[in-house]
Amino acid sequence: MDSTSSSLDPLDHRLYVVTDRAAYVGIIAHAAFIPMFAYVGVWPLAAVNVASVVAWVTAFRMNRKRHQVAAVVILAIEVVVHGVLAVAVLGKGSGFHYYLLPLLAYIALNQRLSQRVVLGALAAVTAIFIGLDFAPETVRSLGPAFDVLFRATNLVIPTITLSVICYVYRRESVSTEGRLQRLASRDALTGLLNRRAMRERLEEEEHRIEREGGVLSVVLADIDLFKRVNDTYGHERGDDVLVETARIMSAGLRQHDVVARWGGEEFLVMLPSTAMTGASTVMERLREAIASHDFGLGQGAKKITMTFGVATLREGSTIVDCIRLADEALYRGKTGGRNRVVCAG
Ligand code: GH3
Ligand code: MG
Ligand code: MG
Repeated sequence: MDSTSSSLDPLDHRLYVVTDRAAYVGIIAHAAFIPMFAYVGVWPLAAVNVASVVAWVTAFRMNRKRHQVAAVVILAIEVVVHGVLAVAVLGKGSGFHYYLLPLLAYIALNQRLSQRVVLGALAAVTAIFIGLDFAPETVRSLGPAFDVLFRATNLVIPTITLSVICYVYRRESVSTEGRLQRLASRDALTGLLNRRAMRERLEEEEHRIEREGGVLSVVLADIDLFKRVNDTYGHERGDDVLVETARIMSAGLRQHDVVARWGGEEFLVMLPSTAMTGASTVMERLREAIASHDFGLGQGAKKITMTFGVATLREGSTIVDCIRLADEALYRGKTGGRNRVVCAG
């Protein structure tokens, strides 16, 4: 059901789910009022509830069709008109004005409306709510039992609706933030961490070593003569090679190692608690895995290879120094013939 809205902007999706869930409560509650009003013989309010059910179903369907502004306008009008009419007919003791409270939350959380519209609507609904609270306690009694029943119902349903709106909004916000966070930290092509996210990880690790001591290796790995891959097979196949290389690197690393796309065809690997010898062993394994992999570029295609520059973070030096040393080692690997692992120092 919600998968139908997966094409939506994440923030619209949040509003979509809130409206969808609130509409369940609204449709059921208003439908339940029809027989109650019919039973006590208040036909105008029974008729209003029939209209309300139509309004809620319409808003529900508008929301499903992504007409989110139409949905909020219909719901706001329905709730206000219904509240005013019911309090006018029965008195404020019936509690029908309490439905304006969840409406306030719904309007306030609705990012589809402009700031100005939200503030105006909140002011209007607040004024109407306060105005209704000055209405006579009882205009028409439905008998002691029904008066109590309506009041209780009209306390319970708005309170539940308010909770549902806020809870669903909160839950969807948490998952939306998580999704945006993941998007912001990943490279779109390869799915690896991007440069910004890797910088953060490196700094965290640097600070951990400052506090607790320890060691860390950093590797810069660059695909050899990648420009030629693009020139020979096209940019699309070049992209495929990048994705496949990223996959091989991820698969060949240990659990605590982290790999990022550092630049175009350049990757940075962070190996926590790993000294130079260990790091170069792991990289030698990766180098072989890539050099022996069939990238599906066809018969007679040149092998895809990678050159690796390895450096280790020593006490008293910084991660920036370490990356520079890895870059110098990588450069030596390139000038020395490529397809090799070169250690700094
Ligand atoms: P070297 O062995 O010295 O690294 O040679 P190289 O050709 O790999 O290095 P160079 O820096 O000259 O070229 C890198 C190429 O990588 C050029 C650029 O168009 C390509 N490239 C960078 N990012 C992407 C990308 O996202 N997709 C594709 N297909 N190509 C990319
Ligand atoms: Mg290259
Ligand atoms: Mg490069």
